[in-house]
Amino acid sequence: MEIITSVTTMQRWSREVHRQGQTVAFVPTMGYLHEGHLALIRAAQTAGDKVVVSLFVNPTQFGPQEDFAHYPRDRARDEALCRDADVAACFIPATEEMYAPDHQIYMEEPAAARLLEGAHRPGHFRGVLTVVAKLFGAVQPDVAVFGEKDAQQLWLVEKLVADLNFPVRIMAHPTVREPDGLAMSSRNKYLQPAQRERATCLYRALQVAAQKVAAGETRAAVVLESMQPVLATVPEARIDYVALVDPGTFRPLEQEVSTPCRAVLAVRIGSTRLIDTMLLSAGNET
Ligand code: AMP
Repeated sequence: MEIITSVTTMQRWSREVHRQGQTVAFVPTMGYLHEGHLALIRAAQTAGDKVVVSLFVNPTQFGPQEDFAHYPRDRARDEALCRDADVAACFIPATEEMYAPDHQIYMEEPAAARLLEGAHRPGHFRGVLTVVAKLFGAVQPDVAVFGEKDAQQLWLVEKLVADLNFPVRIMAHPTVREPDGLAMSSRNKYLQPAQRERATCLYRALQVAAQKVAAGETRAAVVLESMQPVLATVPEARIDYVALVDPGTFRPLEQEVSTPCRAVLAVRIGSTRLIDTMLLSAGNET
């Protein structure tokens, strides 16, 4: 496995793969890999000849009060996991390699990036869209795999690629969960054992919403209200948002829900902020 730290070396490596008539499948990550990331890597292996994984904690997507400095990092373990997973190259640029002192161009967020996650994390998607564009420029992938767990991010990346004509196919991967339903996340490490148990309230609330919609409920307010008692069982849970969105536009649905619709939520358990999502379908849909 190649360890690549410079943008120009990454571009050269990718050009060489393409020159040999092979394709590059890319999995961008912030490292501290877990089974969710490894599932994306396996999906990438089915989609392209050579898999590149980036390990880069992107400072521009963190707000000033957020956990950039404390975000968990373990480069040696991440490299070993990538090697074991038959990754062809790990792209691990330093912050200064990605953001030179004279870096000036940033993506402008569309309205959909200022709702939900964007409303609670101002500037987050400006940083995400900027780093995804930069990573695509460095890795030059044919296909890139993103997790549905970060559903708003996935929607925006699909929009980025469509609107700016990036020659990259975006592949979505379903959320990988712990046996008790908690969506895997590098941030789960922050949870104390008792909090870890209670953190399943996000998944349980989503399941209640899914049952309501499957049973034919179409009033958004009723579906959203059905989730509240589950979240209320955890006194230290603080809800940032709970919403139903149109999967096509990512606009919140406030009246009638047409299905399938997507439930999204962000909840703080103590100081740990968790997000989760589920696609909700009426009973007669597959
Ligand atoms: P991160 O390292 O958290 O920035 O995540 C890198 C990629 O992995 C993103 O596309 C995430 O959506 C995806 N991802 C993170 N956790 C999961 C999960 N539990 N299941 C599926 N994909 C995930």
